[in-house]
Amino acid sequence: MSEDARSWLAGLARRGITFTERNGRLRCHPASGYKLLTDDELIFLRHHRPDIKAALKAGGSRSEPPISVAPAAETPVSTPTPAPKCDYCYQSPCVGADHPMFDALHAADPVVVKRRDDRATQEMWLMWAVGDISEWRHW
Ligand SMILES: [Zn+2]
Repeated sequence: MSEDARSWLAGLARRGITFTERNGRLRCHPASGYKLLTDDELIFLRHHRPDIKAALKAGGSRSEPPISVAPAAETPVSTPTPAPKCDYCYQSPCVGADHPMFDALHAADPVVVKRRDDRATQEMWLMWAVGDISEWRHW
């Protein structure tokens, strides 16, 4: 048997293409694998059928594990995308506005900053107003 045929089969197996012999005919698995063969590989197939069949037979009698077909590329990848980490509380997902420590955890959050500023402004105006009134009383 030919080592070339073995390496030819091994090279295709790495790409998920395998061959079997049935009723003296070589069959490609998957059937669409033929389309993936390069011109050189097709030429080799055309000229070395007996060698390939011999290599398949030899391969079958060996203790090597059968070449398994690579998993289909179209298998849906179902890795769940993790929720992005919150820029402010660094939790994934965000602790949320209902969290008792939300304002502390989100100290840099523009929404919280604005709320804090609004309150500070309110207090400042209140202080000013109270001070104004107490000054009025002095007069
Ligand atoms: Zn957050």
